[in-house]
Order: sequence, then C-alpha cells, then structure tokens
Amino acid sequence: MPKNRAASAKLAEPSVKLSARGTARLLARHPWVYRSDIVGADDIPPGALVRVHDPRGKFVGTALYSSSSQIAIRMISHGSVADLPALIAERIRAAIAYRKDLVANTDAYRIVFSEADFLPGLIVDRYNDVFTVQILTQAMDAAPVREAIVQTLCGEQKPAGIVERVDPRIRELEQLPPRPSGLLYGDKSSTIINMNGVRFHYDGLEGQKTGAFLDQRENYAAAAQYAHGEALDTFCYQGGFALHLAATCSNVVGVDSSRPALEVAEKNAALNGRETEWVEGNAFDLLRDYAAANRRYDTIVLDPPAFAKTKRDLDKALGGYKELNLRAMKMLRPGGILVTCSCSFHVSPAEFLKVVASAAQDAHKSLRVLEQRGAAKDHPILLNVPETSYLQCLILIVSD
Ligand code: SAH
Repeated sequence: MPKNRAASAKLAEPSVKLSARGTARLLARHPWVYRSDIVGADDIPPGALVRVHDPRGKFVGTALYSSSSQIAIRMISHGSVADLPALIAERIRAAIAYRKDLVANTDAYRIVFSEADFLPGLIVDRYNDVFTVQILTQAMDAAPVREAIVQTLCGEQKPAGIVERVDPRIRELEQLPPRPSGLLYGDKSSTIINMNGVRFHYDGLEGQKTGAFLDQRENYAAAAQYAHGEALDTFCYQGGFALHLAATCSNVVGVDSSRPALEVAEKNAALNGRETEWVEGNAFDLLRDYAAANRRYDTIVLDPPAFAKTKRDLDKALGGYKELNLRAMKMLRPGGILVTCSCSFHVSPAEFLKVVASAAQDAHKSLRVLEQRGAAKDHPILLNVPETSYLQCLILIVSD
C-alpha cells in the first residue's frame, strides 16, 4: 500500500494496538487484521479512521475500522492520513490511470477492485456510460466518502449515470441501515456495452453480481480463438461466452437455470445478429441427459457459480467440479475444446487442476492445457492478498 506522505500533525484519530500476530500480517502486506488480534483500543466509532500500533507502541499505519466485522481493521495507508475523502479520491484516480494501458477492446471493465486497488470496501464498475458502485464497509459508507467517490468518478470520466448496487446482507453484517439500490448520480441506469466487439444489454438495477461477469471478459476472447464446431455453454447467464463462440462455431447452445438471464441472452443474440439456442434448466441434469443421449460437442464451456463459498464446502465443491468436467469430457469429440472455470476462492489453482485431471482419468481421455488463465487484468491480483485471486479458467484440448 502506498504511503500517504501528506501527513499532517492532526492526531485526533483513535488508536489501536495489535498483537504480534496482527502486526506480522500487516508487515506481510495483508491489509486485514481480525478483531482477535487487537489487544488494546480506544473507544472507536463505527467506520472511523484509526491509527495502528504494534505491541511495543510503534506507529505502523492508518486503517479503516469496522465495529461489526470480524475483520476489524483494513489498512488504508502505511503512513498517516490527513484527509480520508481526499486520499480516496487520489486512489480512485490512480485506479483509473492503472487501467489506461491495460484494458483494451471494451467499454465495460472494473475501475476499482477494493483491496487490490488499495480501496478496501469499494467496488466500481464501468459499463459504457453507466457506472456501478458497491459499498461494502462502514468507512466507505460515510457521507463525505460517498461524496468523494461520486465527485471523483464524474471528474475523471463522463458517466450518464452512477448506480449504487446494494447487497442488503452486507449492510446487515456491517450494521449499516438498509438502503435501496438506485441512482447516485445522473438519470441513466441501463445501456449497451461492447466487449471484444460483441454487444450486450446492461441494466444497472437488474441481474446478478454487478450485472455482468466482467472478470471473464478476456477469457471470452481467448475461448473464441479455439472454439469450433458445435458448442455448448453451460451456466451461460446472459450469453457472455456463447455470443463470443457464435462468431466461430457452427451452432451454439446456452444453458442456464435463470429464466431472466436467458431472456437477456436472447435479446443479446438479436443485438449481435447471432443465432443461438437457449435452454432453461439445471446444467447438472442436462449434462447427464445429453451424455446419456450420446450427444457430442466440439466446444464446451463450464462456468458454474462458486461452489465453495466457505472452506467447509470444499469437498462438496470439488465433487461438483469433478462431475461437471467428467460429463463434459465424455461428450467432447477428439480435438474438442473444454473451457472450464472456477470462481471459488477456496479452490486453489493446484486443487482445480487436480480435480480436472481426475475427471480426465475417469473419462479415459488425455487433455492438453492450452491456457491457464485468471480474471481479466482490470481485476488485479494483489500479491500477498490471496483473496484477490479467485477466478480460474483452463482451456484444454481433448485427445482420445
Ligand atoms: N458464464 C457467465 C457467468 C456464469 S455465473 C458469464 O460469463 O456471464 C453462473 C450462472 O450459473 C448464473 O447465470 C446462474 O443463473 C447459473 N446457475 C446456477 N446454478 C445453476 C444450475 N444448477 N444449472 C444451470 N445454471 C445455473
């Protein structure tokens, strides 16, 4: 985390003292400290800026405090912070600048990715001229901070609307008063976006996540390079992979359990003039039925939701990935392409490779790894903060 050298002599913030373990975490460049590692604290208001000290009382930086989360503090600077809204504005401008040369062929991408952009608790996505903001902590919810976020985004870019997407469960966990999702600025909440030359309808007040799965954007283009023949996109949502594959495949079927997602997928297909078939159903059941019916494909995409939301779900999650990959491999013709993804942070890249390998063994197939990919570059991975690395995407080619 960069130091904020514009320190002032203003020392009014409350202080916390950390245990040796908590201090070690910070020195290892992880910004979170758990409540159990706070050994001494003033009376700290929710969301306050706090000065952080090691067990011997040495000042180690400034953090944002949460009175309710187990993650009691999230570091915002290894120095002093004179003016939090000004620092947040500076970090947002830096996050925008970081993406200038990294992001190409799209008008939809993540502008701020929380800890990975040194702005813990804040997510901002750009969807063409509609921006979305997600506020995940008490500190980011403070009125002057909200104002700085909106003002900076408008100062740097020209959104026609900024929508706040509220996750009621997160507000409850952070003990913040409920509030509805809605426009924070401007009057536009829906638009059309363009990723890699494929267009999509976007509605900031509908859909899952922040409305689209921007982290897969570069993987769509990569998958399309290898895709051919008859393609099946399972867990297709609004057609992200399917519509990219439609450019090179003879026939594309998208499967999802969400009817509203498929209705948008159909509109997206029309927008791009690409013929695609959409099937509403449980992908596990469909893959089983299609395999039993001896269907064959040349390209299959597996992009399920996170199966392991917590560490405890790990075994069940691995079982789910194994089943999906096994069924898909059995249906792929020789030379066929498997695009298989996991967005479970708790499933490590090594574990994911292992489970896909074990599916190949059971399917009696040999596969070669064409690409081992992660999230798009606008979702940076902060080294030493494993939580910022969660998405995996393997592209494999099947031999008999
Ligand atoms: N590939 C998509 C994102 C997939 S997110 C994209 O790039 O945009 C996971 C999707 O799985 C969601 O659309 C969700 O509706 C769907 N889903 C969840 N459980 C499912 C199931 N059992 N069968 C089919 N779809 C499912």
